[in-house]
Amino acid sequence: MKTIIEPFRIKSVEPIRMTTRAERARLIRESHFNLFGLHSDDVLIDLLTDSGTGAMSAAQWGAVMRGDESYAGSPSFFRFRDAVQNLMPFRHIIPTHQGRAAEAILFSIFGGPGRVIPSNTHFDTTRGNIEASGALAHDLVIAEGRDPASEHPFKGNMDIARLDAYLAEHGDAVPVVMLTITNNAGGGQPVSLENIRAVAATARAHGKPFFIDGCRFAENAWFIKTREPGQQDRSIPEIVRDCFADADGMTMSAKKDGFANIGGWLALNDDDLAEQARAHLIRTEGFPTYGGLSGRDLEAIAQGLSEIVDEDYLRYRIRTNEYIVERLSAMGVPVVRPAGGHAVFIDARGWLTHIDPLSYPGQALAVALYEIGGIRSCEIGTVMFGRQPDGTEVPAAMDLVRLAIPRRTYTQSHADFIVEAFGELAEMRDSLRGYRIAWEPKLMRHFTCRFEKLAG
Ligand SMILES: *Cc1c(COP(=O)(O)O)cnc(C)c1O
Repeated sequence: MKTIIEPFRIKSVEPIRMTTRAERARLIRESHFNLFGLHSDDVLIDLLTDSGTGAMSAAQWGAVMRGDESYAGSPSFFRFRDAVQNLMPFRHIIPTHQGRAAEAILFSIFGGPGRVIPSNTHFDTTRGNIEASGALAHDLVIAEGRDPASEHPFKGNMDIARLDAYLAEHGDAVPVVMLTITNNAGGGQPVSLENIRAVAATARAHGKPFFIDGCRFAENAWFIKTREPGQQDRSIPEIVRDCFADADGMTMSAKKDGFANIGGWLALNDDDLAEQARAHLIRTEGFPTYGGLSGRDLEAIAQGLSEIVDEDYLRYRIRTNEYIVERLSAMGVPVVRPAGGHAVFIDARGWLTHIDPLSYPGQALAVALYEIGGIRSCEIGTVMFGRQPDGTEVPAAMDLVRLAIPRRTYTQSHADFIVEAFGELAEMRDSLRGYRIAWEPKLMRHFTCRFEKLAG
């Protein structure tokens, strides 16, 4: 059979409240054209993020009932810890309420003024935590990773030569080398096992610890299995273990490939660092056997980790994105190719060529997509990354719009609806206008900033 079906049936449903186009035009205007300001009831298909928005399985809901809420030493913690260590065999597993809490703890140790931290591409919360500590974040992804049209199979790879030169140049200022798998901010593109090993070796050669931001480790492993020579016959858990084998630690958002609605962890091998991290954890999150989570959350993650590495699930998941990418490409919409792991990325700068990058073509596209189809997407471009630590503004490397696909949540007809909305968008493309930011906060402005539409 050619059709790859959703490898599950629906046991419990959530109704979608229908809205009209006129209603949506008013609602988005009232939200100052910031999609984060919308009430989710006013969204038909919510592709703002794949973070914590997936559907849990019957087995996960069953595990939730087993959650033990003891303050210290809960059996739910040990099931969580064992499930993590089964895939990522680090010595210390420290639960946090989200990935960014793990980052905040990590950079309270590694950050600080005068320090610089390289990665393939830092995610926005990672960058935010690094900059809030006074350190600087640098992105060293390969050149193909910045070219939306390149068909390179591992566009999330770190540029090893640049990393080596960077470490030689900045030496003492670098406390840790990071690597994001898959490379979320760079289009959900995977990193090869070969590249992960090369980053680890380069960091080691310069005497630096190496940490992985592993939010989408299972999707990354699926790409390794299907695209990297010699990996085809290996199981997903085997590949995952190899990915983390040479790392000194990781940060994780369980809202992604933890298959849970909340949660995360910081994992590491070094006993002294773990001690410092736990001291920070107790002050900001909670006791080390629950972190910022309840026992039932720990159970949902433990069960989720056994489901996320299922090959039928991963095949269907990646195929959904490929399907949308194929259909949009056929319509002439420039999309990041090949399809990424958790999302479809539209090259807004390449499509809305009449809108200057500093007038946010990605925002213009995202607002129009909501008005037309009630689809909520997310700008990943100059709004998100354009503001520099010194206060100036420059165009981001790319102006993308991300359609993040929640896990096990939408079906084939939703995918077809999305494609149809782009058909309508194509008709009115030339009439779309850019925006200016009328108000913004100091850090991570995209969540709360207010836009004004520019006059035609
Ligand atoms: C989501 C995400 C984070 C932050 O995790 P939260 O759970 O949202 O705090 C960090 N890095 C990457 C790559 C992510 O996708």
